Amino acid sequence: TPALEAVDVTRTYEMEGVEVTALKGVSLVIENGEYAAILGPSGSGKSTLMHLLGALDRPSSGALRVGGRDVAELNDGELAELRNEHIGFVFQSFHLLARTTAVDNVSMPLMYRGIGRAECRRRAVAALETVGLGHRLDHRPNQMSGGEQQRVAIARALVGAPKVVLADEPTGNLDTRTGHEVMRLLEELNREQGVAVILVTHEPEVAVRARRQIHIRDGLIERDEATARPEPAA
Ligand code: ADP
Ligand code: ADP
Repeated sequence: TPALEAVDVTRTYEMEGVEVTALKGVSLVIENGEYAAILGPSGSGKSTLMHLLGALDRPSSGALRVGGRDVAELNDGELAELRNEHIGFVFQSFHLLARTTAVDNVSMPLMYRGIGRAECRRRAVAALETVGLGHRLDHRPNQMSGGEQQRVAIARALVGAPKVVLADEPTGNLDTRTGHEVMRLLEELNREQGVAVILVTHEPEVAVRARRQIHIRDGLIERDEATARPEPAA
């Protein structure tokens, strides 16, 4: 089963009586372990596609399968459960709870799954160690740098052992060097744990590191091609 599958998906928004079709019929298969970049101009539909692939939203028409499950056949609760088990999210603006420690932020997806407190903490600590933040467990977001906050967000994304991590401009709020560190981390996750990584980026040097580049324009896939693998960073 592919990790994600979109078949002729459309998504239309209605705003003040005006319809905007953000996706006009997108078909896409993401296999387990893939590493793909989604590129395209502002307003082309990238975020809409990411929200659909992440089962945060449902298509207006067409089929979307997450881990082989057609989202149309699931109620909202079942969809949330599937999302929680299958997908990790990383956003440009981190989306951490401001007054909550790193370990509690990372525990959150497991708490929602009803996993016991001690087990949540154990797994959150392990995830923070994976991203090199074993020494920041009890820090709050405002006590950490942007790069550290994004690493906390990555730990939160991976703590539930997802099949897919969706990252919407994960380096957009970071300086170049910190952005590289975050990318190395996502690549490691992909290579060593076999997690499929799909990221949206405007930065060509980020996109070329992905093995596949999916170009979106005006609600359609314009181009979908393999990238030559660059030399690993020193
Ligand atoms: P991108 O991520 O490539 O910038 P988006 O998916 O955010 O593109 O947006 C695609 C189109 O859909 C744009 O025309 C945008 O204005 C519109 N759109 C996105 N989200 C909404 C929404 N919640 N309500 C109305 N229109 C939206
Ligand atoms: P921006 O790129 O403008 O910083 P983000 O990429 O951070 O925006 O967030 C994109 C969208 O995803 C927003 O509409 C936000 O409300 C939504 N979002 C962020 N975090 C979550 C989450 N954990 N679950 C569901 N939706 C989220």
